[in-house]
Amino acid sequence: METYDVLVIGAGPGGMTAALYAARANLKVGMIDRGIYGGQMNNTDDIENYPGFTSIKGPDLSEKMYQSTVKAGVNFICGDVQEVTVDSNQWKHIKTDSEELAAKSVIIATGSTNKKLGVPGEEEFSGKGVSYCAVCDGAFFKGKQVTAIGGGDSAISEGLYLANVTNKVNVVHHRDTLRAQQVLQDRAFENPKMNFTWNTIVEKIIGDENHVTGIEVVDTKTNEKKVINTDGIFIYIGNLPNSQLFKRLNITDSAGWILTNDDMETNIPGVFAIGDVRKKRLRQITTAVGDGGIAGQNAYEYVENFN
Ligand code: NAP
Repeated sequence: METYDVLVIGAGPGGMTAALYAARANLKVGMIDRGIYGGQMNNTDDIENYPGFTSIKGPDLSEKMYQSTVKAGVNFICGDVQEVTVDSNQWKHIKTDSEELAAKSVIIATGSTNKKLGVPGEEEFSGKGVSYCAVCDGAFFKGKQVTAIGGGDSAISEGLYLANVTNKVNVVHHRDTLRAQQVLQDRAFENPKMNFTWNTIVEKIIGDENHVTGIEVVDTKTNEKKVINTDGIFIYIGNLPNSQLFKRLNITDSAGWILTNDDMETNIPGVFAIGDVRKKRLRQITTAVGDGGIAGQNAYEYVENFN
C-alpha cells in the first residue's frame, strides 16, 4: 500500500492549492480525483473575479493551477474514493475504486454538486434539453430559446453566457428579486436577449419523445398555471455538499456541510476540509484557494509533529 504525507481528495481550485502548499513544504503529496482536475471551473465560461486575470476561461485557469501542482511535485491520482477511515495510530486509510492508500493527513476538497428541482420530467429529459451546465451544452441550443431557473450568480452568469449563444433566455425565478451580484444583475437587465419571469415555480418539465418542449409553471401571487414553451432548461438552484462519503466520520452538520475551524481543521486531528464542501458563507474560487493555502500549511505542521 502506497503511503503519503498528505492526500488531498478533490482537484478543484481548493484542492490544487492545498496540494501545492503541502508539496512546496517538501511533503509527499497525492491529489485524488475521479475526473479531470479543475472541478466546477471546467463548467464556467468567463471568470472575472479571480485577481490577476481581468477575464479567463474556467478550463484555462484549471490548467494553469494544475501545472503549478505538477511543478511542485504533486502526484495526481485518478480514482473514485469509496471510504476514508482513521486507525488508532492516526493513519488515514483511503480506499478508491482501484487501490488502497494511506496518509498521515487528509484534506477533503470534494466540493458540491447541482441541486435538482425534483419535478416530473427533470430526470426523464436530462440530456434531452435539461442541463446543469451552459458551457457544456449551450452550443446545442444555437438559434433556440432557453430557460434558466434560479436567481443566484450561476443562473445569471450562465444565463448571460447562453444569451451569447442562443436567441433568447428566459430566467424563471420563484421570487421577484435576484440574489446574484449587482454587476451581473445590471448586465442581465441590460441584455436585450434576456427576459425575466418572476414569482414563478416550475411544476413539470414537458416534451415529446425526443426533447423538451416546455415547462408547466405556476405564478405564486395569482396561482395562475400556464405552459412556457422552451427548447432547453438550465437549472441553477444552488448546490449540495459532496460529503456523503464522510458521513461515518461525523464531521458534518445536519445538511452535510463539513464543519471546520479557521485553520480548516475538522474535529479529527489531521483531517482538514476546504472549499465548497465546507460550511461557510461565500463559495468562490478565491475563497476555495484561500482555504487551500491554510489547509496545506496546517497539514505540513501536523505531519511535522506526526509520530
Ligand atoms: P445560490 O447562490 O444558492 O442561488 C440559488 C438560487 O436558486 C437562488 O436564487 C435561490 O432562490 C434559487 N432556488 C433555490 N432552490 C430553489 C428551488 N427549489 N426552486 C427554485 N429556485 C430555487 O447558488 P448558485 O447561484 O449556484 O451559486 C453557488 C455559489 O457559487 C454561490 O456562493 C455563488 O456566489 C458562487 N458563484 C459565484 C460566481 C461568480 O462569482 N462569478 C458564479 C457562480 C457561482 P433564493 O434567492 O430565494 O434563495
